[in-house]
Amino acid sequence: MKYVSTKRSSDAVSFEKAVLQSLPQNGGLYVPEHIPILNATELRSIGKMGVPDLAQLVLSKFIEKEIPDDILKKICEESFNIPIPLISLSPELSILELWHGETFAFKDFGARFMSRCFNYFLQKKNQKAVVLTATSGDTGGAVAAGFHNNPSVDVVILYPDGRVSKIQEKQLNAFGKNIHPIRIAGTFDDCQAMVKAAFVDHDLHSRISLSSANSISIARLLPQMIYYIAWWQKKALDEVLVVPSGNLGNITAGLIAKKMGIPLPHMILATNANDTASKYIKTGRIFQQHTVPTLSNAMDVAAPSNLDRIKWMYPNLHDLQSDISAISISDDETLSTMTVINKDYDYQLCPHTAVGVRAAMQSHRRSTVLATAHPIKFPLANQKAKISPPQLAQAERFERVSVSAPQMSNSSAELKIYLIQKFT
Ligand SMILES: *Cc1c(COP(=O)(O)O)cnc(C)c1O
Repeated sequence: MKYVSTKRSSDAVSFEKAVLQSLPQNGGLYVPEHIPILNATELRSIGKMGVPDLAQLVLSKFIEKEIPDDILKKICEESFNIPIPLISLSPELSILELWHGETFAFKDFGARFMSRCFNYFLQKKNQKAVVLTATSGDTGGAVAAGFHNNPSVDVVILYPDGRVSKIQEKQLNAFGKNIHPIRIAGTFDDCQAMVKAAFVDHDLHSRISLSSANSISIARLLPQMIYYIAWWQKKALDEVLVVPSGNLGNITAGLIAKKMGIPLPHMILATNANDTASKYIKTGRIFQQHTVPTLSNAMDVAAPSNLDRIKWMYPNLHDLQSDISAISISDDETLSTMTVINKDYDYQLCPHTAVGVRAAMQSHRRSTVLATAHPIKFPLANQKAKISPPQLAQAERFERVSVSAPQMSNSSAELKIYLIQKFT
C-alpha cells in the first residue's frame, strides 16, 4: 500500500516513510492510496476474532509486507491488550470505555501502535531518532507511555508550565529514561511554535535525526479503527455511535473502518463550542474561527486537521451527511450532563464524554457514546459538576511521582542548545 498526500501533489510513499516522516513535504496529510475492502469471508471471520487478531488482519491491509507477519502480530498483541468494556446505562444509552490504557485516554491505542512501528523501522535501519512533541495535556502522556523503554527513540515533550492538570503533569514526569519532559514558561502555542522552529532548522536537522509524534500521523490514526470493530462485534443493534471530537482523528478512523465494509451505523460528531467541524457537516463551508477555551479542553481545536482526510474520503457532502451528523454542546450543558448522569446512574463522565452523552440525548436515538478519557484527569470540571469519580487502579502509580522536568524559557534558541548538548 502506498500513501499519498490529501493535496495529491507529492509522490506516493511507503508506509515506513509516511510513518517516520509524519507529514508530506508538500502539505496535506498522508492517506492510503485507496481504502481496502474486506470481503464477506473476512468479515465473517473478523466477527469472531479476538481483538489483537482482528487488528492484525485489518491493519495488514494497510501495511502489507512492510512489517513481517510475526512482528506485526507482536505489535498488535502489545497495542490491543487494553480492555474495551461496553457499559449499558439504560436501554437508550451505552458507553464504550476507551480509557483503560496507561494514561486513561483513548490516545493510548494510537500511541502504543505508532511507537512500536517507529521502533521496528528504526531498528531495521540501525538508526536512532529524537521524537519532539508539544502537548496541552493528553497527547504527551500517551506518547511517553508508548515510547517508554523504546531502544531506538528519545522523546522530548514540551508542556506549558502550570497549564496542564496535576495528574497530567505527573504522567509526563513518571517515565524517566528515554522520556524527557520540559516545562516551558509559556502557553501550548509557544510549545508548538518551538517544535515547528526546530523542524525547519536545517542546521539542527543535520546534527540530530528529528521526528514527530504528531496526532495526525497515519500510524496513530489507523489503529483507532480497531475499537470500532470491537464494538461492532458486540453490538448489531440499530443504534448510532457518538464520537466526542476535536482534531477528528477518532471519527476519521471510524469512517475508514466503515468504508472498509464494517457495517457501522450512522455516527454523530459531538463538538464543544469549537464547532468548525459541525458547521462544515451542516453547510459544507469552513468558517474561520478562534479557539475557545472550554472544560473539554482536549477538543479545543478551531482548525481540525483531519477534516482534510474526511473531505478526501467524502468528496460529496451529501454522502458525508448521510454517514454523520453533528451536534455542538456548551460548557453549561456539559456540566449538567456530568451531574445528571452521576445522579441517575452513579456513573462519572469526563467532560469530553459528557459532550458526547449530551449529543446522544439531543439526538433522541438509541446510542453508544465513545468515552475518550477517565474523569480523574479533569479535576476542575469534576469540582464544578460536583462529582467525585472513584480512584482508578492505574492512577496510583502516578501519585507518588515528583515533577523533575527542567524549566526552560519559550525560546527556540534555548531548545536548540538543549537538544545539541543532550543528543550529539
Ligand atoms: C484528543 C481527545 C479528544 C479528541 O479526539 P480527536 O481524535 O482529536 O477528535 C477527545 N477527548 C479526549 C479526552 C482527548 O484526549
